[in-house]
Amino acid sequence: MTVTLITGANKGLGFEAARQLVAAGHQVWIGARDPDRGKQAADAVNAQFVQLDVTDDASVAAAAHSVGDLDVLVNNAGIAGERTEPAQTTAAHLRRVYETNVFGPVRVLHAFLPILQKSARPVVVNVSSGLGSISTAAEPGSPWAAFAMVYSSAKAALDMLTVKYAAAFPDMRVNAVDPGFTATDLNQHRGSQTVAEGARVIVQYATIGPAGPSGGFFSSTGPVPW
Ligand code: NAP
Repeated sequence: MTVTLITGANKGLGFEAARQLVAAGHQVWIGARDPDRGKQAADAVNAQFVQLDVTDDASVAAAAHSVGDLDVLVNNAGIAGERTEPAQTTAAHLRRVYETNVFGPVRVLHAFLPILQKSARPVVVNVSSGLGSISTAAEPGSPWAAFAMVYSSAKAALDMLTVKYAAAFPDMRVNAVDPGFTATDLNQHRGSQTVAEGARVIVQYATIGPAGPSGGFFSSTGPVPW
């Protein structure tokens, strides 16, 4: 059975991806920083719970020890951070969001790499965002040009890390995905999609076979411009 870990899976897109992957026959670990909410979420979808705070080295190391075997890692945990204007944005704003959205996936991948590399079909899905697309933001007149600078730049960094990991590990399928604007706590449920719709692309790239793409950036409609 394919063993899958999803970080930040006690709610939102991660939880829905867990539900869909259990239905697809995966043995799913719900990574969550809060044990009560994590256990409750795992019980609700017949998954297993592992305590995992992506900003905490000890928590991530302990999670890697508990999980033991792993085929699919979904780096989903993420925060929106404060939406500051560029002139008001400080290094501290970036550091807080990068700690979860950029250093988190690196911390988790680094800790789980030895067990992922033992898998016959290792897969990594980095949950990015269309807001991380530099080419979209840089289009003349783009409404996204100055929008959400901290969050967008963190997702752009995650996209570059995806390319680097994919190149470094050719036997692994490593892709970034954009779920699209989805109603979750992250955006006070303003998103236009349901979590079922948003999680679909996460599940699609969590279930790709060894012949599937690696080092790409995809939404449910196909490649996303970098
Ligand atoms: P959400 O409902 O707020 O869920 C975020 C999850 O991440 C929660 O389970 C949260 O746990 C967890 N998390 C935050 N910090 C963590 C940490 N340090 N360690 C472990 N878990 C942590 O948001 P969502 O919309 O489902 O977001 C999931 C991913 O999709 C994020 O990477 C986000 O950037 C991305 N995304 C979302 C949208 C959208 O429109 N919703 C669009 C594009 C991309 P707690 O409950 O403990 O806070």
